[in-house]
Amino acid sequence: MLQLRSLACLSAIVVLVACSEQEPPAATEPAAPPPAAAAPAAVPAAEPVAAATAPAAFAAVTGERIAAADQEPGNWLSHGRSYGEQRFSPLDQINADTIKDLKLAWYFDFDTNRGVEATPLVVDGVMYTTASWSVVYALDAKTGKQLWRYDPQADRKQAFYACCDVVNRGPAVWGDKVFVGVIDGRLIALDRATGKLVWETLTIEKGKPYTITGAPRVAKGKVIIGNGGAEFGVRGYVSAYDADTGEMAWRFYTVPGNPADGFENAAMENAAKTWTGEWWKGGGGGTVWDSMAFDPELDLLYVGTGNGSPWNQRLRSPDGGDNLFLTSIVALRPDTGEYVWHYQTVPGDTWDFTSTQHILLADLEWGGKVRKVLMQAPKNGFFYVIDRATGELLGADPYVKVTWASHVDLETGRPVEAPNARYDLSQQALQPGPFGGHNWHPMAFNPATNLIYVPTQDLPFLYKEDKAFEPSAAHYNLGIHFDAGALPEDNVKAGEIAKTITGALTAWDPVAKKPRWRVELQDVWNGGVLTTAGNLVFQGTNRGQLNAYRADTGDRLWSADGQTGIHAAPISFAVDGQQFIAISAGSGTAMALPGGQLASHSLPPNRSRMLAFALNGSASLPAAAVVERKVAADLPAVTGNTDALATGKTLYQGYCSRCHGDNVVSGNVIPDLRYSTADVHAQWQAIVRDGALLGNGMMGFKEWLDAEQVAQIQQYVLSRAHAAK
Ligand code: CA
Repeated sequence: MLQLRSLACLSAIVVLVACSEQEPPAATEPAAPPPAAAAPAAVPAAEPVAAATAPAAFAAVTGERIAAADQEPGNWLSHGRSYGEQRFSPLDQINADTIKDLKLAWYFDFDTNRGVEATPLVVDGVMYTTASWSVVYALDAKTGKQLWRYDPQADRKQAFYACCDVVNRGPAVWGDKVFVGVIDGRLIALDRATGKLVWETLTIEKGKPYTITGAPRVAKGKVIIGNGGAEFGVRGYVSAYDADTGEMAWRFYTVPGNPADGFENAAMENAAKTWTGEWWKGGGGGTVWDSMAFDPELDLLYVGTGNGSPWNQRLRSPDGGDNLFLTSIVALRPDTGEYVWHYQTVPGDTWDFTSTQHILLADLEWGGKVRKVLMQAPKNGFFYVIDRATGELLGADPYVKVTWASHVDLETGRPVEAPNARYDLSQQALQPGPFGGHNWHPMAFNPATNLIYVPTQDLPFLYKEDKAFEPSAAHYNLGIHFDAGALPEDNVKAGEIAKTITGALTAWDPVAKKPRWRVELQDVWNGGVLTTAGNLVFQGTNRGQLNAYRADTGDRLWSADGQTGIHAAPISFAVDGQQFIAISAGSGTAMALPGGQLASHSLPPNRSRMLAFALNGSASLPAAAVVERKVAADLPAVTGNTDALATGKTLYQGYCSRCHGDNVVSGNVIPDLRYSTADVHAQWQAIVRDGALLGNGMMGFKEWLDAEQVAQIQQYVLSRAHAAK
C-alpha cells in the first residue's frame, strides 16, 4: 500500500500537514529567518538588487483593463489572464509553424530548492511572481533580471499546517500594488515599483491551523483570498479586503458554525439544516483554497469550496445530510459577499472530493443558443457545465474513470452513488480518490477549438473507515484508515490498483461531452495548461518536460527539458514585439508518487527556476547537478527490537510520512531520511522534539511525542536507511 498511501497526503493539496525538513538546508536554500515571533509584526524591507531598470511608468491595473484583457495580449494581468480564467493567450507569433525555433530566452534561479507552483503575472514589461515561503519577485520580463525581491519572513511554525509543502500559486496586481497570500495566513500588499510593503493583514485567527497557498484575485477594488486547513479541523471561509487600505470588507463562511452562537446570515442558517450532530466541533471544512472567477457583467464572484473536516462524514455529520456548502461552487456579490446561488458537486462528501479545482467561464453554443457557462473538472471525475447566471446544471459527464457514482442525474443535479461507496461497512477501492481525476493544476480553454485542455489522472484509492479516530493537532484528521495496507490482503489489492494509475492531457469537448483527443503521460500529477491563438497547448510534466501540442489534434510539436518536475501552468506575454512562454519549474510535491516516480525526477537539488522561451532564444541551462545519494557509512546501528521498530513505524507513518514520505521514501523536496547524516542522528531528539530545524519548517513534536517514541521513530528510520545500503 506504499504508493497509494503516500498519494493520499498529496491529495490534500489543500492543507494537510507537517511539512518538515529534518536535515540541514541544501546549498541552494537561503539561511532561514528567525522563527515564529517574526511574523506579522516585523516588516522586512524589500531587497533591491543590482541596478536593473524598471519601466519608468507604472500604469494602474484596473478592473476595466482585466475585463478587456484581450485588448492588451502582451500582458497577463490576473491569475487566469482574464476574469473568466480561460488561460488563453491571443498571441500567435509562436505558432504551430514557428514553434520549431522556440528556444530558451532567459532563466532566473529562485533562491530555493523547494517547489514553485506560481502563475506569474506580467504587466507592461515587468513579471511578478512568487516562490516557496511566499517570497515575492519582480523580474524584467524581457531579460529575467531581478528588479526586487520581498521576503515576508513567513512564520515557520504556521507552515506546519501546509499539506503539500510551502508552495504559493502566485500574486495578484491592482492599481500600483502587488498582493500575495502568505503561507502563515497574512495577506500583503507591496508597491509594484519598489517591492516595499504597503500594508499587511492577518486573515486567520492566529494559532488556528489555516495556511494560504492560493493566489488572491481582485474585483471591484477588493482583494479576495481564501485559505486551506480542512485536514486539521477548520471552518472554511473567503474574505475580501480593500485594495488601498487592507481593511476587511466582508467574510463569507462556507459552512455553518455552532448554532448556539447565532448564524452570520440566512445562507448559513439554511446550510445548518443540512448538517447533523455537532459538526462545528471538527470545524466542518469547506475551505476555499484555490479557485475563483469573476463575471463583471453578471456582477458575480464564484468561489470553489473543499472537502469536509474530517473526511469521513459519519464522524462529521453522523446522521447524514448534504452538508452545505462543502464541495460546492458558490456565487457571491463581490461588493458585499452576499450569497446568490450555489451548486454542490458532492452532497455529503466523505471522500476528500473538492470543488476547489479551476473554475473557468466561457460563452458556449448550447442547444442552439449561446449560454454563459461556468465549467469545472473537480476531483470527483465529472466535468460540469453550469449556467453561471443561475447555477442551473447543464451537463456532468465523466472525464476519467468514475466508480464512486454511476452518473449525475441532470433532473435533480445530484450524483447517483454506487452501492457501498460510503465504505462504512467495508473497505472500498474507489475512483477517483483524494488526489482527484484532476487537482489544482489549471486547465485552459481555446475559443478557436472550443476545447478545454485538462491535466487528468486515473488514480484509485482504498477507503477504509478509521474506527479509532481521535482528532489531533499534530496530524491529519480524516477518519479514514491510512494504514489500510497493513493487512497482507490489502497489499495485494493495492498492488493491483497501482497498476491502473495513469496520467494524461485530455482535450475535452464540453458541448459534445467527450474527449476530442488525449495524450497519455508517464506519470500522474502533471503541470497546468496554457493554450494560445497559435493553435498550441503547452503543459509541463512531472518528469520535467515542457511540451507543446497542436490544439486541434494533440500532435506533439515541441519539447524542452526543464530539469525538474513541472506542476505550475505556463503563461504567454510579449515585450517589444517578442512573444514569450514562461513557466515556474520546480516540483512542489513533497510526497513520493506511485512507484517512486517523483523520487527519481525531482532533483536533488531541486533548483527552482523561472524559464522563459522565445523564438530563436539563445540561453541555455547549466547542466543539471547530479547528486548521488548515499546512506552514510557511519550511521548508528539499529538497536531497537522488533516491537520498537513496529511502534516506530506506526508513529513515523502517522506523524512523519506526510512530508518525509511513505515508509521513508520521500519525494525529495523534503529530505529523504534514509540519507540523513550521522550528525543528524546525533541531534535527533533536538530536531524532532525541540524543533532545532524549525527554520526549515520542521516542527518540534514535544507536545505530542515523548523521548522514547521519538527514539522508536529513529530506530525505524535507521532500519530503513540500513536497508537502502
Ligand atoms: Ca483535502
